[in-house]
Amino acid sequence: MVNAGVSVGSGGAPNFLERVVFLKGSSLWRRLTGMDDATDLRSAGLRVTAPRLAMLEVVRSGNHLDAEHIARGVREKVGHVSTQAIYDALNALTRVGLLRRIEPAGSPARYEARVGDNHHHLVCRVCGTVTDVDCVAGAAPCLEPSGSHGFAIDEAEVVFWGVCPQCRAESASPAQGHVGAGSGPA
Ligand SMILES: [Zn+2]
Ligand SMILES: [Zn+2]
Repeated sequence: MVNAGVSVGSGGAPNFLERVVFLKGSSLWRRLTGMDDATDLRSAGLRVTAPRLAMLEVVRSGNHLDAEHIARGVREKVGHVSTQAIYDALNALTRVGLLRRIEPAGSPARYEARVGDNHHHLVCRVCGTVTDVDCVAGAAPCLEPSGSHGFAIDEAEVVFWGVCPQCRAESASPAQGHVGAGSGPA
């Protein structure tokens, strides 16, 4: 007999709690709870400071910015902040899960405020542009691999590499000379 009833209390789906934790911090969660950045910082155990608030805003309004661009945006909002303080804040916000760090091979780390939903990324090999792609199969199926090898898994990242439409259009121009593969740095 098939058990069609879904009860969300005790004896419910074994993954229910994990799913709730997973949702927490997502933009949906923010909308549902009306949380703001100051509340987020406090509940993460961090002091609420102008640079941290500015950083969350800059990262959210940008598209997977690197530290240099984030620093520029934060300074535009709050004046001088040392580079060390920028990196400290990026690390603190990433550690508590308010920011997510993406580290595509061969390019500087990027940051985003879209956290907790386990989405994936398209990265352009030519210009380094990073684009979000949703997990097509729904709620983070990649968090349940066929074998966990004893790991307590909390994140799965898939990076799709390719060439973005803009770079494809530019490379279609015949003026570009061929760059020999395998040649080392000069
Ligand atoms: Zn590109
Ligand atoms: Zn993203």
